[in-house]
Amino acid sequence: MAAPKRRTSKMKQRSRLAAKAWRAPLLRKCPKCGNSVPGHTACPVCNTYTTRSNKEITIKAEA
Ligand SMILES: [Zn+2]
Repeated sequence: MAAPKRRTSKMKQRSRLAAKAWRAPLLRKCPKCGNSVPGHTACPVCNTYTTRSNKEITIKAEA
């Protein structure tokens, strides 16, 4: 069975774990109501979704 030739260095191990680490989602402000919303998500308060081209699309709530 193949065995590792070298012990993984602390830097290698730590940088690998740092890439896997959980980070809080980036919150953006809703242009309509100012509520903080995670990116690529419609605002839960006013249902506004802003695309990269800054065009506002309002999604109708399911009746
Ligand atoms: Zn909003």
